[in-house]
Amino acid sequence: KQTIDQIAAGEVVERPASVIKELTENAIDAGATAVTIEIRDGGTTFMRITDNGAGIPADQVKKAFLRHATSKIRKAEDLVNIASLGFRGEALSSISAVAQVECITKTPEALTGIRYCIEGGVEKEYEEIGAPGGTTFIIRNLFFNTPARAKFLKAPVTEGNHVSSFVEELALSHPEISFKFIQNGQNKLYTSGNGNLKEIVYQIFGRDLTRELVAVDARTELMHVHGFIGNPNVARGNRTFENYFINGRYVKNKVIAKAIEDAYHGFLMQHKYPFTLLYLDIVSEKVDVNVHPQKLEVRISDQEGVYHQLCLTIQNALMNRER
Ligand code: ADP
Ligand code: MG
Repeated sequence: KQTIDQIAAGEVVERPASVIKELTENAIDAGATAVTIEIRDGGTTFMRITDNGAGIPADQVKKAFLRHATSKIRKAEDLVNIASLGFRGEALSSISAVAQVECITKTPEALTGIRYCIEGGVEKEYEEIGAPGGTTFIIRNLFFNTPARAKFLKAPVTEGNHVSSFVEELALSHPEISFKFIQNGQNKLYTSGNGNLKEIVYQIFGRDLTRELVAVDARTELMHVHGFIGNPNVARGNRTFENYFINGRYVKNKVIAKAIEDAYHGFLMQHKYPFTLLYLDIVSEKVDVNVHPQKLEVRISDQEGVYHQLCLTIQNALMNRER
């Protein structure tokens, strides 16, 4: 059983950033309005995710760490769904199979919370304790019992950068949730969760950029585009500041990148890339979102239409901006 969990873990848990992804998704699913993420050594030795969500009822805590793949296969079409969704329902079991996990959780109704420790799939402690409403997961020594996998971890700085980029995406995806990110004891990111996008850009990327932002908002039958684009004066040397979401998902997409860059053509020097934070909501018939455990793909079927509308919208915004 432990071996099977360790194998399953390979699909879900590749590196600290994938643990952070799974656990923050759970926090959001639990209705959290504030999430704190803390890591040390790039997350390899220590990760702590605290949320103020619904908590796990005492009698459900141990069950939450069991694999429930089979319970999800009821009919033939579920098999197809499971294949496309990857290993859903396996995050906690997978993570606890390859790390030392401590979970402290309390529902609003419960008088006391539960502290549950499980290491390499082996239960260590289960006790009632005082706790605030919500859930905290502490993950220590990722891959402590699977040295073959530990070898594939990069240097702590690199792993930390993966976590850090993921937390930025997360904060941009959920302006209504307050995120705090602490790395090696230092506060790295804080968003207030008040839903104000411009303020979040300022909180994440700094004030220089914020002053230069141009608002964008255009709607057609094909899609709604809104967000902010950077003034050409504050262009960057690489594409990492081209942020965009397609139907709520933070992705990279060649068609979108080309539309952005072509729109800026003539406004920018060569080899310079703009800052963008764009939310594209494309009618569902025109996109195909494929979710695998480790990669996210969005295929746009009406590439021409999306390209032209986005290009035009950005060009209009650039030409009409206040100088
Ligand atoms: P899934 O999210 O696909 O259900 P997971 O293994 O990620 O599977 O989590 C198992 C279960 O544990 C969840 O369905 C949920 O009931 C519970 N859970 C996990 N994390 C939290 C959290 N932060 N707050 C409340 N419940 C949680
Ligand atoms: Mg989950």
